[in-house]
Amino acid sequence: MSETWLIKGARPAGGSPADILIRDGIIEAIGAAGSTRGASVIDAQGLIALPGLVDLHAHLREPGREDAETVETGTAAAALGGFTAVHAMANTDPVADTAGVVEQIWRLGQQAGHCDVHPVGAVTLGLNGRHLAELGAMADSPARVRVFSDDGRCVSDAVLMRRALEYVKAFDGVIAQHAQEPRLTEGAQLNEGEVSGRLGLTGWPAVAEEAIIARDCLLAAHVGSALHVCHVSSAGSVEIIRWAKGKGWRVTAEVTPHHLLLTDALAAGYDPVYKVNPPLRTAADIAALREGLADGTIDCVATDHAPHPAEDKETEWDTAAFGMTGLETALRVVQQAMVDTGLLDWAAVADRMSARPAAIGRLPGRRGTLEAGVPASVTLYDPAARSLVDPALHASRSRNSPFAGLELPGRVVATFLRGRPTVLDGKLA
Ligand SMILES: [Zn+2]
Repeated sequence: MSETWLIKGARPAGGSPADILIRDGIIEAIGAAGSTRGASVIDAQGLIALPGLVDLHAHLREPGREDAETVETGTAAAALGGFTAVHAMANTDPVADTAGVVEQIWRLGQQAGHCDVHPVGAVTLGLNGRHLAELGAMADSPARVRVFSDDGRCVSDAVLMRRALEYVKAFDGVIAQHAQEPRLTEGAQLNEGEVSGRLGLTGWPAVAEEAIIARDCLLAAHVGSALHVCHVSSAGSVEIIRWAKGKGWRVTAEVTPHHLLLTDALAAGYDPVYKVNPPLRTAADIAALREGLADGTIDCVATDHAPHPAEDKETEWDTAAFGMTGLETALRVVQQAMVDTGLLDWAAVADRMSARPAAIGRLPGRRGTLEAGVPASVTLYDPAARSLVDPALHASRSRNSPFAGLELPGRVVATFLRGRPTVLDGKLA
C-alpha cells in the first residue's frame, strides 16, 4: 500500500473543502500541497474529515469472553466506526488488575492493528470493591495505563474511592467511576418511572447515579484529584457535574450515543436489546444530556460498547445481560442526535469524540486536530448517506445493537491510523 495519500476536497472538521496530503504517517499539508507525485488519490468531495475518533469506554471482552468479542473483532468494529483509539474496560476474565494482564491486552491491540488499544486498569483487585489493585504497576507497564475503573461495578466504598483518587495523582491518572449506588439499585431492571411501573419491572432511580456522582465530585475536590464520570444518564447528573465544574474541580464526564437518542419507552415490548446499565431514561433526560454535551458540561461521547452473545441477550428481560454494541454506529447516532438537530457543528464533534477523550485518557501525541505536522489519524465521513442499521453486517462478534432496523444518517468511508488506512470505501482495508 502506498505511503502517500492525497485526500481531495474533504471538509476538515466541517470547514471549507481542502486537499489533505498524508506522507509517512504525518499530515504533510492541508490546502496547498507540494509534490503529490506517486500519491494514492481519494476523491473526498462532500465528505467531512475528522481527527481519528477516540473512545474512552469499550468492552472488548478479551481475555475470557471471546464468544462475545475479541480484541481483533472489537477493534475492527472500532475502525469501521471511524475510531483510531479505544480504551478497553477492565472487567475481563481475568480482570485487568495487574501489569501482566494490561500488557497482554495492549499487545493484542498492536497485533490486530485496526486501532490503538489503551487498557483501562481495574481500581480494585478482581473488581471486588475491597482492595486497591496495583495501580502504579499498571501505570509503569508498557501499556502505560492512566485511566482506572471498576466499570460494570461502582467503587461504592468512599474510603477506597478516596484512596484511589489520591493514588493516581502521582502519575496524573484519572478514576473513571461507574456511578451506581448498589443498595438503591438491588434487582433494578429499568429506569424508575412511569414505564417501569406500567411494565412491573424493578425501578432504577436516577438518584442512585446522582448520589455517587455528587459524593465523588466532593471527594475529588477534597484530595485535588481527577474524576471522570462514565455514561451519565440523567438530567440531575448533568446538573451536579455542571456545579462541580463551576467550582473549578477536576471533573470530566461522558455520555453514550444510546443515552442521547433512546428512551425507556422502548422497553414496552420487553425486548432485552434495550436493557442497559445505566438504563435508558426519559425524553427530558435526553434533552438535558444533549444540552450538557453541547455546552461542554459533558466532555465527550463514549460508546460503552458492550457486546453479548445471543444466548445472554435473547432471553426474558429479567435474566438478560445489560449492554449494547455501539462502536459501528456511534458517529451516525451523534450526527442524528446532535448535528442534524443543530446542537453541535462538526468542529465540536471533533472535540467531543477525539480531542477531549484523548486528553482525558492522557494519550500522547497531538490528537484531535487536523493540521500539518500531526500524525495522520483521520476519519472520512459522508454525512449525506443514509441507511438502515443491520447488525448482521457489523464486524463486532455480537449483534446486540439497539439501532437495528433504524435508519440513521452517515457512513464512515475511510479511517487512517497514523497514515495507514484501516478502512477504505467503508470496508476493512
Ligand atoms: Zn458502566
